[in-house]
Amino acid sequence: MSVATLLLIQIRRLSGAFPSALILLGLLLPVTSYAQWFRYTDTAMTTPVELEFWFTDRSAADAIAEDVLAVFHQVDRSMSRYREDSELSALNRQAAEHPVPVSAGLFRVLKRAEDVAVLSGGAFDISFGSVGYLYDFREHQQPSEEDIQARLSHISYQDIVLDEAEHTVWYRQKELLVDLGGIAKGYAVDLGIEQLMRAGVRHARLSAGGDLRLLGDKRGRPWLVGIRDPRSEKRNAVVLPLENLAISTSGDYERFFINGQGERVHHILSPGTGKSVRGVQSVTIIGEDALTTDGLSTAVFVLGPEKGLEMIENLPGVDAIIIDDQRVMHFSEGLAPPESEL
Ligand code: ADP
Ligand code: MG
Repeated sequence: MSVATLLLIQIRRLSGAFPSALILLGLLLPVTSYAQWFRYTDTAMTTPVELEFWFTDRSAADAIAEDVLAVFHQVDRSMSRYREDSELSALNRQAAEHPVPVSAGLFRVLKRAEDVAVLSGGAFDISFGSVGYLYDFREHQQPSEEDIQARLSHISYQDIVLDEAEHTVWYRQKELLVDLGGIAKGYAVDLGIEQLMRAGVRHARLSAGGDLRLLGDKRGRPWLVGIRDPRSEKRNAVVLPLENLAISTSGDYERFFINGQGERVHHILSPGTGKSVRGVQSVTIIGEDALTTDGLSTAVFVLGPEKGLEMIENLPGVDAIIIDDQRVMHFSEGLAPPESEL
């Protein structure tokens, strides 16, 4: 029996003695509410943001959603390389001159990016921007071989010096440019989930493009998360029942164009060649938090199935699904179905 029905019975019993209780009922009913799923969407960090959670009343849910969605705009203002006024752009302008103090959030993301760079032997390298900034996927522009060669030596995460005590960042090279496109969305998703937890939410799904985190389950059942077929927007390659986890997918279909030579030029670049990585169509990483899964999905994409899975098998609590360019699926041991073709 619902709270409202109980209330009604109570008040009916009372109403003989206190007719004014009926007026009280009129006042109480509109504020009585039922828990339900609330859904919100937004665009931030040049990607769709989707939020879904279970909560008791609409106006409180709206306020929570507003705070959670604001997080993505805050992270964008700090970490976007497309905004002249972002903290990251200021860092890129100044850090070769002198160590620059940065916010705790930016420092945290840079530190994690460094960890993933070390772990992946430099396959993940946020200074790929030194060449990456020459690509324009919307305008179908790619740099010439000479332009790439001239800048390739500036891709060098070892030249980004993080001072933990001072919270400063210094670039040892003048031409080095950092781009956090491979990791910042995961960070924002984690902040959003923290916000939801603080607000008392226990069942939620929050995604920004290919980065998703689940809080709790879907009330007694797992969430069903589809990993799309890299060559068909409408088809899932796999559907996974998951709860309380983060999952990130990096694909060669997110930002790409086909050049005059018929090659797919996409946004995940090999720091070794300055060109789009070949051999993989998508990588999905499952782990505890989205900062981790976002960085690792890009790293494994660059490493390829063999070296990528080798790295993942050494990380407790992390799993991977790789779809290679032959459309063969590779799973880490934790997921363990037999290898199969799509
Ligand atoms: P998205 O969710 O935007 O598809 P991914 O997590 O797949 O992002 O990462 C792709 C983004 O990572 C690129 O758009 C670019 O900003 C950045 N990136 C590309 N190559 C590398 C690399 N080798 N190391 C680190 N970041 C990279
Ligand atoms: Mg990533």
